This record gives sequence, C-alpha cells and structure tokens, in this order.
Amino acid sequence: MQKDQVFPQVAVLRETFERGITRDSTWRRSQLLALEAFLVECEQKIAAALHDDFRKSPAETFLTETGYLRGEIRFALKHLTSWMKPHRVSIPLIYQPGKGYYSSEPYGVVLITGAWNYPLNLCLAPLISAIAAGNCAVVKPSEHALHTSKVIAEGLYYYLDRSAICVIEGGVETSKALLEERFDYLFFTGSQRVGCEVMKAAAKHLTPLTLELGGKCPCIVEADVDLRVAARRIVWAKFLNAGQTCIAPDYVLVHKDVEGELLSFMREAITDFYGADPLLSPDYPRIVNENNFNRLEKLLSGSSPWCGGKTDPQGYYVAPSILHGVTLEAGIMQSEIFGPLLPVIAYHDIGEALEGIQRGPKPLALYLFSSDREVQEKVVRQSCSGGVCINDLLFQASLPGLPFGGVGSSGFGAYHGKAGFDTFSFKRSVLKRSLYPDPDLRYPPYTGKKFGFLKYLVTLFS
Ligand code: NAD
Repeated sequence: MQKDQVFPQVAVLRETFERGITRDSTWRRSQLLALEAFLVECEQKIAAALHDDFRKSPAETFLTETGYLRGEIRFALKHLTSWMKPHRVSIPLIYQPGKGYYSSEPYGVVLITGAWNYPLNLCLAPLISAIAAGNCAVVKPSEHALHTSKVIAEGLYYYLDRSAICVIEGGVETSKALLEERFDYLFFTGSQRVGCEVMKAAAKHLTPLTLELGGKCPCIVEADVDLRVAARRIVWAKFLNAGQTCIAPDYVLVHKDVEGELLSFMREAITDFYGADPLLSPDYPRIVNENNFNRLEKLLSGSSPWCGGKTDPQGYYVAPSILHGVTLEAGIMQSEIFGPLLPVIAYHDIGEALEGIQRGPKPLALYLFSSDREVQEKVVRQSCSGGVCINDLLFQASLPGLPFGGVGSSGFGAYHGKAGFDTFSFKRSVLKRSLYPDPDLRYPPYTGKKFGFLKYLVTLFS
C-alpha cells in the first residue's frame, strides 16, 4: 500500500489491475453485460430512487439515464474488438527491418466523480468507457442525490467485479480525501469552481484528467423557422429535469421580428406539456435541494417573469418560467442558471447575436434554429463551444458516435462511444527491430564522410 493511502479499496483495485485481469477483452465484455443486467433488472428501483431524489419521472429517467446507458453499453460491445485492435504503422526504409504499432492501453485505477443532476448517467457513462478501456475504477456519486447514490453503490457491488470496481459514497470531504490518493486518471463532472480544485489536486500527482463542466448555453432563433416547432423543442429541452441540465439552453436569443410569436408558442408548449399548473404534473421534477432552490428564487425575484414565476419551498418547486426584458448585462446572465428560468433576449441581426456569444466564456453547447445554410455555417464557423446542435437541442449529447465534452471554461476532454474509450486509454507505441544488420553508420565517431552519408540517407528515406 502507498504511504499516503487512506482508502484500502484503492489498493485492492490496484492489485487487480497489476494482475492484468481487466485488460482481457472477456473481462471487459462480462462487466459491460453485468452493468446492462443491473440497468435492466433494477430499472424500477433506479426510477424510484431518482423520483425520491428530485421527483424525476420514470419516463425521463428511462430517456436520459437507463435507456441512454443501455445504448452506450450496446455500442461499446459492438465496437470493442475494433477499438482494442493495435494499429500497425509503416516503417520508413531507413528503419527497416522492423515492425511498429501502437495500442490503446488502460491507465490503471481511475476515479470517476459524478454530479447530481443526472446522478446515474454521469457516474455510469464514464464507467462504461473506463471498463471498455480495461481500467479499474472508483466511482464517487454525488451526495445530493442520495437515493441514487445508494442504488449505484448496491448495484455495482452485486453486479460487477468487486476487486476491480468500487463505489465510495460521501460528501465534499470524501471527495477531497479521494483526491489525495494517487489515481492514474481523474474524470470529473461538476461545477467550474470545483473543477479548479480537482485540477489543482491532479497537479500534485501529475494525474491526467477530464473535466466535464457547465456554463451558459445559448440558443439562437432566427426568423425563418417554424416557430411552433422551435418553441416546443426549446421548452422540452429547457424544462426537462427542471432545467438542471448542463446542456440545457441557458437563454434564448431571438430575432426581434418573431420574439412575440416565439414567446406565445413557448407558453403554449409549457401548458401542453405540463398542464395549466405544472405543480400538479407528474412529469415535472423538483429542484434538488434548498440551496439551489434559494439561489433560483433569488434570481427570479430580480426579474419579471413573462410566464411562470411561481415557487413552493415545500417541495422545492420552481415553475417553468420565461423571463422577458432581460439584458446581457443583467445579474441572471452572469452565471449558469441551472434551473427552470429561461431569459429571452431579442436581437436585430445574427451578427449582433454572435457578438454577444463571442464575448462570453465558451459554452458546452450552442443551439441554432435557422433554415438558412449560410447562417448555419456562419454560426458554426464564428463561434466556439463543446458541441453544436442545429434545429434541435440536447441530441448532440445522446449519439454514441459524437464525442461529448466542453472547451475552455466548460471543460476539456470528451467521452461517449469511441471518445470515451480513447479518454480512458493512452497510446503506447511499440517498435520491434531485428538485431541485424548493425551497420557502423549510426555510431560515433561521426566523421565528415559518415555524417554526410547519414544526412543523405535520413533525408532520402525517412
Ligand atoms: P459540484 O461541482 O458541486 O459537485 C460535483 C462533485 O464534486 C460531487 O460528487 C461532489 O461531492 C464533489 N465535490 C464538491 N466539492 C468538492 C471539492 N471542494 N473538492 C472535490 N470534490 C468536490 O457540481 P454539482 O452541483 O453536483 O453539479 C452541477 C454542475 O455540474 C453544473 O455546473 C453543471 O453544468 C455541471 N455539469 C456538467 C456536466 C457535463 O457533462 N459537462 C454534466 C452535468 C453537470
């Protein structure tokens, strides 16, 4: 055991890794299948836990957590053999005879720290990638979704190989203590503030890491689209999980000519989805805890809601609310909202909308509703974000073929599908040479003639 180790589980995992068990593709497949069995067999238990944590509906839980994860497992199982294959490289004439290849190697023992807003998904999606890549993993679920944390701990204990995968539950102190350990890779999902702390801790051991952070994701709506469809999609994406989604549209920038129409369609969509009083809707979740509820109430009190605006401290309910008349300088525009408040801001032309986005930090996602190809290309070219989705929202994060991650202050590194496998592995180069021939040319002394010939050969054949 290392001297500075406080979690004996980590030593067990390290020993397993050193024995090479997790490198085997049969082990990887068996663990992925076991994880799938957990998701299928415990679907109701998982749904109940998420409902207890913040009244998330079983349908939303399936769509954004269990169903998504099952797809991710299937994708990994289908592609694992090709991902694991070593890549042969061609050897320049001067280095022959020889054979060169590189392979994707697991890092070792990795730490996965999850956020509470998709408490299952944000722990298990990285775990799928970590297993596929052949690592041992410690999973630290969020303490703010306690019921789900328990289900994860119990589920992984019973379904997965305990000598290679373990769950350590706990709050901030546990998280900090875990960061004192020497891991081979850190995968963190959470806020920018804590992301900085994690990066400092990683620097101590020079541990490589991925940070999946948040930010303000803009959604631009041009005048040339079907506004009813745009409004329905925006409302769905914003109020899913009660706005507690890292890639939810944080605010809408709408062309001034269609602002009124879009607002009306959005109000209509809220009523269609959640009824006249969303407090009574079984499909509308709650805010996760008192701190976040108070933070959102404060933001709400500083603005004038165009629709919604009701709150109830009893169950931490905040109504789906659209805020009108907000400026880019307003308080609510200075940090990630992370709740069901949607400011709508009008612009005169697309250049103005883009300028506002370029001035801010780089978001995790950028959304655009436009039917004009030129505008679509201009927005993609002149902006920077972790991902972009045109004429829809959120789905850029649900396709296993598309890497998911941030840029700048929204984080770095990516996962989902092959990107996740790559994140949890490093490329190891191997070169095999034969002992003969062994010409004198490479060895000193480098006489003028020898050096000249060497130069000639290297320039000609490498
Ligand atoms: P958080 O940063 O408060 O907590 C995340 C995790 O870090 C928790 O497990 C917690 O125990 C741990 N933690 C808290 N303080 C710590 C400290 N000082 N040192 C070490 N670990 C600590 O985030 P949250 O409130 O759970 O999640 C909300 C944030 O996460 C939002 O900003 C959201 O945008 C972001 N998020 C990002 C993604 C993404 O994929 N990029 C996904 C979901 C959420």
